[in-house]
Amino acid sequence: MRLLCAAAVLALAGAAIGASAQRSEQFYLSGAPVQGGALSGTAPAGAVELRFDGEPVPVDPDGRFLVAFDRDAGSEARLTARLADGRIVDRPLTVAPRAWRIERVNTPMRPVRDNQAFLAIRQPELARIAAARALTTDASGWRQRFLWPRIGRVSGLFGSQRIYQGEPGAYHGGIDIAAATGDPVVAPADGVVTLAADKPFTLEGNLLMIDHGHGLGSAFLHLSRIDVKVGQHVAQGQRIGAVGATGRATGPHLHWGLRWKEARIDPLLLAGPMPTS
Ligand SMILES: [Zn+2]
Repeated sequence: MRLLCAAAVLALAGAAIGASAQRSEQFYLSGAPVQGGALSGTAPAGAVELRFDGEPVPVDPDGRFLVAFDRDAGSEARLTARLADGRIVDRPLTVAPRAWRIERVNTPMRPVRDNQAFLAIRQPELARIAAARALTTDASGWRQRFLWPRIGRVSGLFGSQRIYQGEPGAYHGGIDIAAATGDPVVAPADGVVTLAADKPFTLEGNLLMIDHGHGLGSAFLHLSRIDVKVGQHVAQGQRIGAVGATGRATGPHLHWGLRWKEARIDPLLLAGPMPTS
């Protein structure tokens, strides 16, 4: 049994070394495309350009790249690499649908706040969020296996949605983790801070945004404190702030949102099942 295991490990190591030493002219993908999920891969050897559904995607010198699928992504997507000699390598993808938690309630939808006083505060906040998202950094956390920024009970799933008397409300754009005010929050992967609220935003409260590179970014909402500054490089596992209930929150919890470019994605699929302790 031990010999068999050792042989299996050696075979895997051999395959990995072979793959990195001599890249083939095909795509190598790890994982399967699914709504709200990300897919990392290696571009075909000799690729000079990579596109995902026609849009350019950055590729590291070793060929590695990341793409992700929005919560509402359609069933078909396509990776296209152009090689130095002009040849095109095409890789159609079939995106698996997810069964999102949908709750139908017999109450009217809460009216959207659109009065002048609210908008006067909200529009600059939205502009700051958009500006932070537009920043590109040299962060390479996208290459890492993500950690949970806080370990605790998951109290709200990504993608869940309420339908109010037939009218769909906005779906939940992140994952909620129940915690106490002051509990430390750590960086789920290496990154660069792109927004650190100096005062609470109306809805997000003390908002912290971290770019992980290649279009992947985290947002942490409702924090009681932020321990890092804009432009600062943070390392995976480093303390970045503390849980709170600032902004629109009914109690202390961490809301962790993840985006790849415009796609909103499910942190659970990047960090894996929540550890039990
Ligand atoms: Zn939330």
